[in-house]
Amino acid sequence: MVFSRRFLLDAGVKATISLPLWMQTALAATPWSRHEQASRLRAAAYRQGQQNRLVVIDPGHGGRDPGCIGKGRLFEKDIALSASWDLRRTLERGGYHVMMTRERDFFVPLQGRVDFAEKHHAAVFLSIHANSVAPNTVVRGASVYTFAEHASDPLAQKIASLENSVERLSNPTFKGVSPQVGEILFSLMSHSTKVESLLLQKHAVGALARSVDMLQNPARHATFAVLQSAAIPSILVETAFLSNPEDEAALRTNAFRERIAQSMKNAVDAWFIAKQHAVANL
Ligand SMILES: [Zn+2]
Repeated sequence: MVFSRRFLLDAGVKATISLPLWMQTALAATPWSRHEQASRLRAAAYRQGQQNRLVVIDPGHGGRDPGCIGKGRLFEKDIALSASWDLRRTLERGGYHVMMTRERDFFVPLQGRVDFAEKHHAAVFLSIHANSVAPNTVVRGASVYTFAEHASDPLAQKIASLENSVERLSNPTFKGVSPQVGEILFSLMSHSTKVESLLLQKHAVGALARSVDMLQNPARHATFAVLQSAAIPSILVETAFLSNPEDEAALRTNAFRERIAQSMKNAVDAWFIAKQHAVANL
């Protein structure tokens, strides 16, 4: 995607961004008529969705940012990386093209992670984490987050602030179209991205719940900086709690991480199928 991401951090400051190439092509052929252009956009989105099997995995934290640390000294940055490699291998065996925002232990800023996914035109973005509510050692289980301006509950808010939340973004302006048309395009794009993120969250929660312990109300939302792409459906998976001794022990095992990987692969499969049906029926 050809977005500049500066506007995401500079709340209130308008930036100029370019439309994705497939949108430009769809819009180039005719003068603006909302109905006609909307159906061209849907057709272009459908072609785009059919071809694009690139999954970007984002292993949380890294380098100087360890993330949460368990009582048994397990670092979130390490377990996020191991779980991401497990997921990568599982997805690649399933025929997906996979890239990672980091493949080793180094620091990547949050905006750089979103930029990476957009630069490579990812079909979907999966951020992998483990969380903590220390000193509470009782709360445990997996949960899945989408971006929203207001957190679904106090725990989601707390977790988002640990994972680096950001405030409300300003809307971008688009090159080559009037501000009014730009606003409609942005809202079309971000609405469909949001719907697709929620659909992916639903599949991820369903698939994980069949193989690992889940947090109560596992589908939550909050202002996670890495989930802000207006163009790429994005979710953040909190695989388990490092503040809970059983969860920390489970995260150390290959068997647990492989259950997470297989569940997420099943969720991505189901999401691609559901999405193609939905677009085909527009
Ligand atoms: Zn994290």
